[in-house]
Amino acid sequence: MDTTHPQVLPEGSPLVRFSGVTKCYGPLTVLDKLDLDIAQNEMVSIIGPSGSGKTTVLRVLMTLEKINDGVIYVDGEPLTHMPKAGGLTFATEKYLHERRSKIGMVFQQFNLFPHMTALQNCVEAPMQVLGLSREDAEERALNLLELVGMGDKKDQHPTRLSGGQQQRVAIARALAMRPKVMLLDEVTSALDPEVIGEVLNVIRSLNSEHNLTMIMVTHQMGFAREISDRVCFFYEGKIAEQGSPEQLFGDPQNERTKQFLHAVL
Ligand code: ADP
Repeated sequence: MDTTHPQVLPEGSPLVRFSGVTKCYGPLTVLDKLDLDIAQNEMVSIIGPSGSGKTTVLRVLMTLEKINDGVIYVDGEPLTHMPKAGGLTFATEKYLHERRSKIGMVFQQFNLFPHMTALQNCVEAPMQVLGLSREDAEERALNLLELVGMGDKKDQHPTRLSGGQQQRVAIARALAMRPKVMLLDEVTSALDPEVIGEVLNVIRSLNSEHNLTMIMVTHQMGFAREISDRVCFFYEGKIAEQGSPEQLFGDPQNERTKQFLHAVL
């Protein structure tokens, strides 16, 4: 039982809070007492060397992996835990499942349902999980497919779409759940160079016009620099350095950050 973390965060707290989060795989500590706050409408990029724990941050927030210690809060409430006897205890699968829809995630591999059209891919979860009527779910899905420039391809199956188009449908599908926060995991790394721009343009507009809260793991340093409010540099499961893009890319302080940026830029 965890009595060191509050059952509810005070009003005005960040939308997402990682409080002392540790994640291990066997003997390997992948996240090491991680503290990370994400404000409403903030766009945070996570960069760092391979194996530093970047994807794990997203996977534990998506509740795809259980954490070993600490608490993750979303919207003031514990995501990973539930209240018990004045403290918190690890959440059951059922509880986690109910909370999962607060988080939207877009993966490297688009993970669209291959036997469904673009539109069907976007209506499935809102109907099944949120209980929307087909009519309402289709209206919502169509608006979102338009938003990502895929309205005219709504009846196509994924195999008939380019990688960039599939990824835009995957973004629309995640948005259809109206998540509190969107997680983007290397969303352009499986794409051909010529279609990367169309996906980045969609993310850019979600950020600038629709004020979504987003956490993005990326190797696209130029893009991270352009659109992030804050950049976090991960090293061995901790944030080694964080700051505005100007500060982190322009005047890094930590030796590890300097080495990393020197190698990738
Ligand atoms: P990054 O995204 O920064 O490349 P990850 O978060 O994917 O790093 O992984 C961090 C570390 O955790 C790596 O050493 C990786 O091998 C290990 N890891 C990730 N997933 C698993 C797993 N399911 N089982 C065991 N080790 C894992």
